[in-house]
Amino acid sequence: MRTVTKFSIFMAAAVLIQAPWVWAAKPKSEWNEKKSQHFVVFYKDAPKDFVDEVIRSAEQYYIEITRDFGFTRYESWSYDSRAKIYIYKDQDDYVNSARQANWSHGAAFAKSKTIRTFPAAHGFFDSLLPHELGHIIFREFVGHNVSLPRWFEEGVAMYQEKSRRWGAHKTVKDAIDRGVFIPLKDLNRSLLDPKVTDEVVDLFYAESASVIYFLIKEFGENRFETFCRKLKYGSPFFEAMKGAYGRFGTIEELNQAWVDYLKKKL
Ligand SMILES: [Zn+2]
Repeated sequence: MRTVTKFSIFMAAAVLIQAPWVWAAKPKSEWNEKKSQHFVVFYKDAPKDFVDEVIRSAEQYYIEITRDFGFTRYESWSYDSRAKIYIYKDQDDYVNSARQANWSHGAAFAKSKTIRTFPAAHGFFDSLLPHELGHIIFREFVGHNVSLPRWFEEGVAMYQEKSRRWGAHKTVKDAIDRGVFIPLKDLNRSLLDPKVTDEVVDLFYAESASVIYFLIKEFGENRFETFCRKLKYGSPFFEAMKGAYGRFGTIEELNQAWVDYLKKKL
């Protein structure tokens, strides 16, 4: 009898101890979510109108970006293949919970089609959102295993930031005039210098945007799409470019044509 009592007490205690654990196993998620055709936005305590604007802008950019690249037969994101946008409470929450560098304002993860950011991120709607979506859409199109020059990948994302797109040619032309222009073949390396200055970083992004803008606007979206398709099916970078553009078979050739264009046009 005594043992049974002991056992009963033990069981009761186990249930009591167990119960909160069972409840805790399914806590209410700290994330709220809102879905649209191509996106799921996860947010913590962002205002409703901000979340609505994120959805509206993301859907708009999705259409514009696939169109700007000429990716007309792009496989649509819907249902389970929607992209995910996580909006953390603030920069601290983003840095700590998403484990990002403390200078970072947003990050894109192309394979999982995920963007992580926070409401006060610098240039949220005009720069960050189109830039990160540009990375994801472009990578999904060409594939994740294709190796690409960094200037090209960043240029493609920068091209989506319309507000910066227009100024890029001018910044690069000024750099040419001042003798600080970095030729394409040295551009990636310029960021590897441990003493790299802000001016060089800004120039890296401006040159990357400008050369992509040159390729798309001067020769059309169709050629750019053909070029990307060749990359997707395994052509080496400048072989794909020569095949699509009938020129630019080397990095020097592309660099020269782009610099000549800027000198003539601006
Ligand atoms: Zn980027």
